[in-house]
Amino acid sequence: MTNCLFCKIINGDIPSVKIFENNDIIAFLDISQVTKGHTLVIPKHHYENVFQLDGDTIASIFRPIPKIAEAIKSAFNANGINIINNNGEVAGQTIFHYHVHIVPRYNEDDGFRAIYTNHMDKYSREDLVEFAKRITDNIKD
Ligand code: AMP
Ligand code: ZN
Repeated sequence: MTNCLFCKIINGDIPSVKIFENNDIIAFLDISQVTKGHTLVIPKHHYENVFQLDGDTIASIFRPIPKIAEAIKSAFNANGINIINNNGEVAGQTIFHYHVHIVPRYNEDDGFRAIYTNHMDKYSREDLVEFAKRITDNIKD
């Protein structure tokens, strides 16, 4: 995609600080460094989001992630890692070339925060069964 920032990084038209590359992906440091070592893994082919990916393609993107995560953890002595992928503007996606964030974690105040609010006061067990049926009915081969 000519107008895609991450395609430009893949083509070398925009500089990046690369940490790993194979036939399918490149991994480079996120310019925002939410925490030290914050890395992005992107496919070399342009896909906008998870909805454009099939299982084999997403497997090829995720295959090197354990070893990249392990390397980041070892390099900075991180205590944990968040692996995040935002799909769609409402989900926080700002660059519309599929990417996976690897965010090493050091402590609760290290700069990264994911807020999961429990809303089960709004739903019943029957609601959950109905949600599950709706989703299951939409799973396609
Ligand atoms: P998202 O909000 O999930 O779409 O994440 C996009 C990420 O791309 C953000 O964390 C940005 O900091 C990062 N980013 C934007 N431009 C660059 C760049 N030129 N090099 C590295 N990372 C970038
Ligand atoms: Zn792209």
